[in-house]
Amino acid sequence: MSLLVVGTVAFDAIETPFGKTDKIVGGAASYIALASSYFTQDISLVSVVGDDFPQDFMNTLKGHGVDLSGLQIKQGEKSFFWSGRYHNDMNSRDTLDTQLNVLADFDPIVPESSKNCEFLMLGNLMPNVQQKVLSQLTTRPKLIVLDTMNFWMDIAMPELLETIKGIDVLTINDSEARQLSGEYSLVKAAQKILAMGPKALVIKKGEHGALLFNKKEVFFAPALPLEDVFDPTGAGDSFAGGFIGYLAKTKDISFENMKRAIIFGSAMASFTVEKFGTERLIGLSQKDVDERVQEFVDLVQFDISLV
Ligand code: AMP
Repeated sequence: MSLLVVGTVAFDAIETPFGKTDKIVGGAASYIALASSYFTQDISLVSVVGDDFPQDFMNTLKGHGVDLSGLQIKQGEKSFFWSGRYHNDMNSRDTLDTQLNVLADFDPIVPESSKNCEFLMLGNLMPNVQQKVLSQLTTRPKLIVLDTMNFWMDIAMPELLETIKGIDVLTINDSEARQLSGEYSLVKAAQKILAMGPKALVIKKGEHGALLFNKKEVFFAPALPLEDVFDPTGAGDSFAGGFIGYLAKTKDISFENMKRAIIFGSAMASFTVEKFGTERLIGLSQKDVDERVQEFVDLVQFDISLV
């Protein structure tokens, strides 16, 4: 398998200034797998759900070429549930409820065929589970990307610090970068975080785009100015899916190629926010993706001649 995706497959309940959903399908790994499926068909998912999770959505993932042999279904148990409310700016949100349910004692099992994956996306999940996945691999992947959030920084910081020591790319948002580093300046925060282990860092800034750092360079990608943003949930995960999906497709993990991957990630995130939940990420065409990426290229292209 070339890309292994780990993370939550979940139910979400979302409130935005535009409306409210009951329990809908979400979860970090759901968004990552769907977004990356537009770049590679060689994807395997490791996660856990309860017997309340809809077969329909599993069929959708399979239809996108995602191998679900690493998805455990726990009889008599409930799936992970998260609920959040977005503020008027749609850029910040409050978590209203997090019910770990099946996640509380999740013991991930990496299928034999994925133990030598070339690309590993450790999506948002408790850091000790992310570590358990790493310990089952027989060869070190060419690239390990890890995404996390403030929830795990609040309750499992030592485990998180241990896990990020051995990864290649960390993706977090701006407030999480400040929390992790204790620095307000994102440039200082990046240097501190890069000293913790990752070779590159992506700081996501919602509608204000994303920054990519390594120890020497920095690159900025905008977010697409959209007329309507319905639901930002999953934008960060879709970004991560597009980012690693493009790197897995091209098999080039240089900083130059990561700059392109950030644009593909931003393009996938821009689709996700246009509808509630995972809806917009299902059934896009190659033409849809190409046209969206072209919009990013047009947005930032300008000629300046300095004489
Ligand atoms: P994002 O908007 O990209 O940060 O991700 C939103 C997704 O993350 C939702 O679909 C949630 O189910 C999932 N999620 C929320 N809280 C957690 C958590 N503590 N651990 C793992 N996944 C979470």
